[in-house]
Amino acid sequence: MRKRAVLSLALAVVLLLFSACGGPQQSSVSEKAPESGGSAAEVRETFVSGNMQKNSPSGNFVSANGKILFTAVLENAEGLAVLQLMEYDPASGLVSTFCKDPTCDHSDKAEHCAAAHASCNLENNGADVFAMGFETLLKLNGDRFEPVLDSGVAGFFHAGDDLYVRTQDASLLLYENGKGTPKTLLEEYAGYWEYLDGDTLYYESGGFNRVQLSAEDPEPEVLLPGAEAITDGTHIYYTGDSGFLYRCSMDGENKELLFEQRVLPASWNYDETYFYFRLFDGDLRGAGSHEIYRMLKSDPAQVEKLAELPDMVYQIYISPIAGELFVIPLTEAKDSSGNKVDNMLYIVSTESGEFRKLEIS
Ligand SMILES: [Zn+2]
Repeated sequence: MRKRAVLSLALAVVLLLFSACGGPQQSSVSEKAPESGGSAAEVRETFVSGNMQKNSPSGNFVSANGKILFTAVLENAEGLAVLQLMEYDPASGLVSTFCKDPTCDHSDKAEHCAAAHASCNLENNGADVFAMGFETLLKLNGDRFEPVLDSGVAGFFHAGDDLYVRTQDASLLLYENGKGTPKTLLEEYAGYWEYLDGDTLYYESGGFNRVQLSAEDPEPEVLLPGAEAITDGTHIYYTGDSGFLYRCSMDGENKELLFEQRVLPASWNYDETYFYFRLFDGDLRGAGSHEIYRMLKSDPAQVEKLAELPDMVYQIYISPIAGELFVIPLTEAKDSSGNKVDNMLYIVSTESGEFRKLEIS
């Protein structure tokens, strides 16, 4: 059974600050592949699946040519916060801008920027890397992003060679084999954080939903009204009205309370073995904000504290390098106009809980 996950950003998620793409966005998932870092083709399934159902302007990590790409809001030469495509080199431990042209400011005025305004919805699909530009779909070609679709794109994901596009006028299109004339799958579609299993599409949109795409007249079904959710294809994990952590089966049945404390949906993610999260007492900077917890998926009663960081934890991403997590902290860094900027990341070992800080200024 082929499974794909996609994810996107919802400003609706409790806490989000700023969106360069201006609304829900998606990215997606790729072929199941061997577990190891290194070449772009070797992408862990949980790396793509988990990360694809989370998104943020400073999030979505993808693997490309042995490096890891992500976006971050940084202060530019004029002292203003600008979303940038960044590159982390695991071999050197260094972070730099993806575009290496020292004369380029990587802004929307920069016509020849190698990042081509890639700003969100970063996606690994096999060895290919895709991203959203300004209403465009971009593909990494060598060391540059180039347009595949040059207008009308609001979000996208791939399932194998097939390309699914949410359009600016809110329909869902299918480009078979990624090209040609698209087929309209849904006339009205505003979903994000997609996960495709066979012909059943799971997605967020005012709750967690599913729809059978091959049906003659596809009827979306709300599985979990109002819930924020993430799925690993076996269970749907979500918070109820209480903010506590629950899960259920893929049809919305068999609901179980997993953890009787409030957790932060922006933080959660999963790998093959664990579900990761931080606590949330109603104040982002409140009690429990520095700690990363994890729960054994096969036995949710087993919860342990993996790490406690010097900075407050905001989001947890799965790395293509097995045994590591990327953690985006909540920091106070601001540009000259007072807008928040990202100036660091943490890499946390899933084996020891040891961590190191990466400066991304
Ligand atoms: Zn540039």
